[in-house]
Amino acid sequence: MSEAASSGPSFKLVLVGDGGTGKTTFVKRHLTGEFEKKYIATQGVEVHPLDFHTNYGKITFDVWDTAGQEKFGGLRDGYYINGQCGIIMFDVTSRITYKSVPNWHRDLVRVCENIPVVLCGNKVDVKERKVKAKAITFHRKKNLQYYDISAKSNYNFEKPFLWLARKLAGNASLEFVASPALAPPEVTVDNELMAKYQQEMEQATALPLPDEDDADL
Ligand code: GDP
Ligand code: MG
Repeated sequence: MSEAASSGPSFKLVLVGDGGTGKTTFVKRHLTGEFEKKYIATQGVEVHPLDFHTNYGKITFDVWDTAGQEKFGGLRDGYYINGQCGIIMFDVTSRITYKSVPNWHRDLVRVCENIPVVLCGNKVDVKERKVKAKAITFHRKKNLQYYDISAKSNYNFEKPFLWLARKLAGNASLEFVASPALAPPEVTVDNELMAKYQQEMEQATALPLPDEDDADL
């Protein structure tokens, strides 16, 4: 955590997931973060400082985003070092990107042992969803939070940040008191369908976890 004069705390947020899942699209939605981003040439990453205003003051997430290196395998340790929280992203229209989630999680916790992490299933605006609620169980095994998101529509944009902010502050009563300026939605989501997805996720959470030993039977 670092603290500059007259501003609140900031936290390094490590953003990982397969190429093409929408990580860069997601982080660029936050307009002041996009305006103030910094390129770290030695790491080949862009750092977007995303500010959120809470009932306890300002909090900044310094979101690390790759320049596409993840498409060629894992990321270097420097990407993870001093990470204080994380988002693992997959694409709900691509099963292979969900299958990669355990690998991203392993790489992350190898360097950042015990940090709060949110799993996000992006692109829920797409009608042909392939990774359904019932199939999304990884977060339950590892005590991560999960959210459906749609970067292009801004659906649930703030949810992962609010959950992380509460964990980092150790305060479940922390709330965002103002919405950050976001890029205008490029697509819209069907609110009824989103409510149905949410209900399916709640029902799935009530079921026992699949037994890993039986997974291939
Ligand atoms: P990254 O490789 O993880 O950084 O992914 P990008 O942000 O470059 O996005 C990959 C592709 O997915 C681009 O064509 C985006 O326009 C598209 N994309 C990203 N987010 C969404 C979304 O929420 N919905 C839809 N339909 N497409 C998205
Ligand atoms: Mg990218």
